[in-house]
Amino acid sequence: GPAVGALLDVVGAGIPVPLADGREVPYANLDQAASAPCLRGVAEHVERVLPYPASVHRGTGYSSAVCTALYEGARDAVRTFVGGRPDDVVIFTRNTTDSVNLLARCLPPQPPDPARTSDPGHAVPGGVVVFDLEHHANLLPWRSRPGCRWVPAAPTRADTLRALATALDTAPTSLVAVTGASNVTGEVPPLAEIVRLARAAGARVFVDGAQLVPHRRVDMAALGIDYLAFSGHKLYAPFGAGVLVGRPDWLAAAPPYLAGGGAVREVTSSAVAWADGPARHEAGSPNLLGATAIAAACRLLGALDARDLHQHEDLLRRRLVDGLRAIEGVTVHSLWADGDDPTESEAATRPIGVVTFSVAGRDPGFVAAVLSAEHGVGVRAGRFCAHPLLARLGADSGAIRASVGVSSTSADVDRLLAGLAELVGDGPRQRYHELSEGGWA
Ligand code: PMP
Repeated sequence: GPAVGALLDVVGAGIPVPLADGREVPYANLDQAASAPCLRGVAEHVERVLPYPASVHRGTGYSSAVCTALYEGARDAVRTFVGGRPDDVVIFTRNTTDSVNLLARCLPPQPPDPARTSDPGHAVPGGVVVFDLEHHANLLPWRSRPGCRWVPAAPTRADTLRALATALDTAPTSLVAVTGASNVTGEVPPLAEIVRLARAAGARVFVDGAQLVPHRRVDMAALGIDYLAFSGHKLYAPFGAGVLVGRPDWLAAAPPYLAGGGAVREVTSSAVAWADGPARHEAGSPNLLGATAIAAACRLLGALDARDLHQHEDLLRRRLVDGLRAIEGVTVHSLWADGDDPTESEAATRPIGVVTFSVAGRDPGFVAAVLSAEHGVGVRAGRFCAHPLLARLGADSGAIRASVGVSSTSADVDRLLAGLAELVGDGPRQRYHELSEGGWA
């Protein structure tokens, strides 16, 4: 296939990796679904913010005014990038996990308020419906909610939608929580259909965008997504910040996620009046660097032509999947057959550049260790915080995941494929054991 080069420059691309045999090779980072390298433009932005060490919202000095403007401006950049509605609230959190937990605390209380149930599209207070294909971050916060139901991600997308429809018929539902793209198979659920079914049942939709947002252009308003969460460290920004974007009413009605400074309007010895807007859920000094880094990443990615982003990733994914399938004993995992969804355009459900596979007769941790020690290729082995999905895929004991990003190249992919082919040929297993006995591993 055609060579694929990096789309954007990142910090630390190709850092030298010492191999077990003493050679050094440039690092091939194929673990970008876990955390992506920081864009150079984001790092430069952070450096421009660093000279203004002042607390957001809390000072009158010049630095504080600059920080407050940067922080509030970051909300607009995020909202624009993900196609949020003008009144959607943008709350900065620690990461996607934190965002899901925040939303889970803000669901409307049960029992239902009959006055609200007659308005189509408006939430029917009730339970939460989740799919069993989720990352634990989008399962466990809901699991403890009263009325939470799990929908099996059945063998086809159409079956999965039927299972959702049944779950929605069974009991009142406030929210359907679904991932935008699987962190295991890279597959994209039929989001437009999920939104349509949820709306018809009076439920809202939360999309876990941790994997989708870095890889596909998302338009919340056009798709009818009510809430979206994602993490900065997967969107080519540093660690430490994430966001929750969405409809303001539930968030405004719920008690603050954290109690403390910044989340209040007025405190007396007998009463507290909590702040409105995003500040209500952002007690404590805000993470200005994290928030503005996410905003910078949103602006940089937003300036890319989405077609370039998608094509870059499609080509790398194809190269990876075709190459893996050509190696004896390698199985690429997927939930749904390609093209099994007659209701959505092929483009809307095309998988992202995250691929999970197994190698017959080889422990996933061993394969990953050999790829790293002998080839300088970083992948991930394990169950990817998605135990129910791995069980469904028949990979209870784990698998290997390779994932690409804007800085990935076809050379990275080819190095993984060559290393794997060599490993399947068996020589390296012995070499690796010799090295392990020598204390290297
Ligand atoms: N959801 C998905 C789909 C993910 O891939 C991840 C990270 N692996 C998360 C949620 C959790 O993200 P974080 O660890 O940044 O909270």
